[in-house]
Amino acid sequence: MVKKRQLLVVATANKKKFKEIRAILGDLPLQIKSLLDFKKKPEIVEDGRTFLENAERKAKITSSFYNCLSLGEDSGLEVEALRGEPGIFSSRFAGKQATDRENIKKLLRELEGLPKYKRKAKFVSQVVLACKGKILVSFKGSLAGFITFQPQGRFGFGYDPVFFLSEYKKTTAQLKPSLKNKISHRYKALSKLRKFLKNYLVKEAGKGEV
Ligand code: IMP
Repeated sequence: MVKKRQLLVVATANKKKFKEIRAILGDLPLQIKSLLDFKKKPEIVEDGRTFLENAERKAKITSSFYNCLSLGEDSGLEVEALRGEPGIFSSRFAGKQATDRENIKKLLRELEGLPKYKRKAKFVSQVVLACKGKILVSFKGSLAGFITFQPQGRFGFGYDPVFFLSEYKKTTAQLKPSLKNKISHRYKALSKLRKFLKNYLVKEAGKGEV
């Protein structure tokens, strides 16, 4: 008899973010879906004070709504010269419904006149796994870089066109997605989660739940 794969719902409606997450976790014996795969969606208000609080909220609410495993991921950009802003407000830096382009425009305006050495920034990703409303584990990853003077590149999403990696001499929007997914903040957090999930699934299978 073929065993049914356990469902993992990623608590995001961001297509590009989900694509990255699926590319990193895709080989696990799970059925991975996002909120975009469902007509009925839970209401999640992102009013936490930290990435962790927001990621916990996403994972907890989604896993109890669909009664399954769920992954909450909250991420953003922290710019040193802006004392860590936009941080948890990264997706709405230029306003509630702001586009990536508008957010980038605002960021470049705020950093206008600053030389490269004052444009240090990092991407942060916080991931939380929950099952049926209970938090199981959380992990964090970060990636250090610089904010460029102009957008460059067409891959990725969000602030990728202005996030420069000295090691590659490219923005993360100029990196092939397959490479970004091997070095990113999201990859770093998710690769720790992967290890946990592998063990977890084996244990659950032993209990006859998978
Ligand atoms: P969230 O969906 O509430 O976690 O918001 C994340 C926001 O942070 C995105 O909308 C982007 O603005 C920014 N962000 C997070 N990760 C990345 C990335 O990998 N590249 C570019 N921007 C990112």
